[in-house]
Amino acid sequence: MTLNMNMDSISNAIVAAVGSVAKRGSPLHAPEIGGNEWRYVKECLDTGWVSSAGGYVEKFEKKLGSYTGSRHAISTVNGTSALHACLAVLGVSVDEEVILPALSFVATSNAVAYCGAIPNFCDISELTLGLDPFKLEAYLEVIADGEGDNRFNRRTGRRIAAVVCMHTYGHPVMMDELLEVCRKFRLPLVEDAAESLGSFYKGKHTGTIGLLSALSFNGNKIATTGGGGAVLTNSSELASRATHLTTTAKVKHTWEFVHDKLGYNYRMPSVNAAIGCAQLEQMPSFLKRKRMLSDYYAEAFAAIDGVDFFSEPEECQSNYWLNVILLEDASPSLRDSVLEKLNREKLMSRPAWRPSHRLPMYFDAPRDDLSITENLYARLINIPSSPALVSGNE
Ligand SMILES: *Cc1c(COP(=O)(O)O)cnc(C)c1O
Repeated sequence: MTLNMNMDSISNAIVAAVGSVAKRGSPLHAPEIGGNEWRYVKECLDTGWVSSAGGYVEKFEKKLGSYTGSRHAISTVNGTSALHACLAVLGVSVDEEVILPALSFVATSNAVAYCGAIPNFCDISELTLGLDPFKLEAYLEVIADGEGDNRFNRRTGRRIAAVVCMHTYGHPVMMDELLEVCRKFRLPLVEDAAESLGSFYKGKHTGTIGLLSALSFNGNKIATTGGGGAVLTNSSELASRATHLTTTAKVKHTWEFVHDKLGYNYRMPSVNAAIGCAQLEQMPSFLKRKRMLSDYYAEAFAAIDGVDFFSEPEECQSNYWLNVILLEDASPSLRDSVLEKLNREKLMSRPAWRPSHRLPMYFDAPRDDLSITENLYARLINIPSSPALVSGNE
């Protein structure tokens, strides 16, 4: 009885707080087409350059490079293909393992599986919602075996090929600590930066700190190309491998088609890149309004017992892609009753992705203790986060 009353009062207070900030009927994250999108796409269509040739793909890659500070940017058809390309460039292959957080969108694990490799799940940190470097180190101390450049999982006998971290909902993970652990075990670190365009870790753009990273420009991300993605890297060698692999491994030739390895048709079309150029121009406005929105939420939730608004980690600047509230109690029934009420009120909200080790494709995947993942999954709710919820002149 008291528990139910408590549940009701918490969930009602949450609905009131979200409702005081977000408009009813707003999706979780709507794209905003408010700049030069029409003009640039029209130019593509008028000139007939609708496929990957024409100026916009290169223009988009240049803009991305200068926006993020990455030496190279290679655009792709979506974020999943960008992640797959990162792993393929590193030579991740059949019967190897890649360590990654259990809490992520399924694409992170799928990209590993596309290489014929096996995801090995590690826990996340309450401070960042992303891969916990301290638990990762302790786990590797137990499972990693081998000298020189190769590390094997002594439990499975498989080579550990890489570590992938993910900046959850735009909040940067502890990159310095992760890099140190990866250096110690000689493992390449890939960043799944699909959600963190515009997020910075100690002044560096996320996705420019690991060896390679993947961005996404899906319709629900902070900036969109309709569908799209990109690989970032500071290494010229890795960049040319990524370009080659994502253009069907075609050898440069004026009129003959020769392919020197198994490649992928992953290049972003020009029309999408044109939309992307216009979207990147609006990043300062998106970021400014999303920060204001997160400030409003932080204020609205400060007074409510039993729930916390999740704020950016220390020394980081988050893009607040999807705003997060965390219930104090890890109670799926409370979480679901809050979700029920929010969605009934047309305040579109959802729980975190079901952790990947609980998806049928990955039931048998190796894993460390995932207690923080399970705990946060039971407490986490995403609430409406579109930049349009804050008007430009506020
Ligand atoms: C969106 C997303 C992707 C994949 O991007 P798509 O463009 O949808 O293929 C990968 N990882 C994470 C964490 C994402 O949120």
